[in-house]
Amino acid sequence: MSKKVKTAVTPTRQENYPEWYQQVIKVSELAEASPVRGCMVIKPWGYSLWENMVKVLDGMFKETGVKNAYFPLFIPLEFMEKEAEHVEGFAKECAVVTHHRLEDDGNGGLRPSGELAEPLIVRPTSETIIGAQFAKWVSSYRDLPLLINQWSNVVRWEMRTRIFLRTSEFLWQEGHTVHATSKGAFERTELMLEKYREFVETYLAIPVICGKKSDSERFPGAVETLCIEAMMQDRKALQTGTSHFLGQNFSKASGIKFQNSEGEEEFGWTTSWGSSTRMIGGIIMVHGDDDGIVLPPRVASAHIAVIPVFPKNCDMDSIIDFCEEITDRLEKIKYFGEKLRIEKDYRDVAGKNWDWIKKGVPLRIEVGPRDIEKGCVMVSRRDLGAKEKKAYSIDDIENKIPEILDSIHNNMFDKAKGFLEENTKNIFDKESFISFFSDWNKDNPQIHGGFAVSPWCNNPECEEKIQEELRVTIRCIPFGSCAGENEKCVYCGKKAVEKAVFARAY
Ligand SMILES: [Zn+2]
Repeated sequence: MSKKVKTAVTPTRQENYPEWYQQVIKVSELAEASPVRGCMVIKPWGYSLWENMVKVLDGMFKETGVKNAYFPLFIPLEFMEKEAEHVEGFAKECAVVTHHRLEDDGNGGLRPSGELAEPLIVRPTSETIIGAQFAKWVSSYRDLPLLINQWSNVVRWEMRTRIFLRTSEFLWQEGHTVHATSKGAFERTELMLEKYREFVETYLAIPVICGKKSDSERFPGAVETLCIEAMMQDRKALQTGTSHFLGQNFSKASGIKFQNSEGEEEFGWTTSWGSSTRMIGGIIMVHGDDDGIVLPPRVASAHIAVIPVFPKNCDMDSIIDFCEEITDRLEKIKYFGEKLRIEKDYRDVAGKNWDWIKKGVPLRIEVGPRDIEKGCVMVSRRDLGAKEKKAYSIDDIENKIPEILDSIHNNMFDKAKGFLEENTKNIFDKESFISFFSDWNKDNPQIHGGFAVSPWCNNPECEEKIQEELRVTIRCIPFGSCAGENEKCVYCGKKAVEKAVFARAY
């Protein structure tokens, strides 16, 4: 047995991955459970990460002509009933408001009264209520395309919850568009998936696989669902963004009609696409280590923590002055179009360095009296070992920081990409397929095979059997996937029509 290294997070990823995840959220001060079961409180460190993500994504959407709007939290029951598949898909998860008033119950408590004539649904997603407005906004082909996004919260009543991954209430954006043609709507569906891929890879440093969902995993009511899937460090998949081609299903349900250039009335073609605070769960599980979260530099809550070191009997004021001078200069620097975000930790306490390691700040700049004498600072990168430090001259530091941040981003991306590739296997026979998804370690069954890329028959019944036996689902069918002439389905042995990515998933 090797000597156990002390880590800031216990248990380690190897010891108990799900518990490690919960502990990272705690020690990194990202979020916490709330008194309301299944709902989370996002703390400032986690919320500023989300704000940075929102800012970038919002800018990317707007560059494609999308405008933001806001729609009600409540949806009339009859709206949900309009699209049959949609109702079926969301019915079990809906929170329903049935009363609108509280009254004294006679025992010092309160009870709901004033029953509503028609119950209201707390939005699980907004296709139906937005569709009702779109029906009013669209009348001619000249009104199209209509490109709308809203940033909001949604509620899906979950029985088993986990912070950021599955909570009853979460924050997200949902884009909704209407087009004159099927082609126009499908191109928008593809474009928004590409925006998600670009965002997740370029800003979150998370490599993804892009493709379409199988029939059974598709969004309720959609004709086609496109998705990006990422691999977590326990080799499970996390869907990090979806884009749906809704055909004319929702426009028929909501009455979104327009006059085409020939003066004939047609139903519009619609799309919807979403991404959520779930992505934060992805950042934790892709990049985190046994010392806490590792924040991707381009969206990090802060880029740098400036940490003065105060030895006994030192002149604290002069050290703080020096830190202020460095901070002033650094705050003028831009990285990825944003001013450097800097946290100054002037507390006179021990262990400050570890607090910032746990919080995952990309760079720590330590300043002590001897560094000041030498005119340098000590810089530590979160993606390298906790003890690794490098001295930089203060004349040089401004120019070097963006370069170092980029190097951290690239290092994080390459590491995650290497892990994804290492754990993605082409598997053609049933025996290997089953063994790939059988637990390696009975004591630690969360860590399993990874992604299997295998020929598949495209039969939902076969997919269901795979899920029952192995708890494995089709994460996506990569774009351009087709099976070889004589290839057989990895599970049932019938003729394969395409290759699919199979994995366990969050
Ligand atoms: Zn099959």
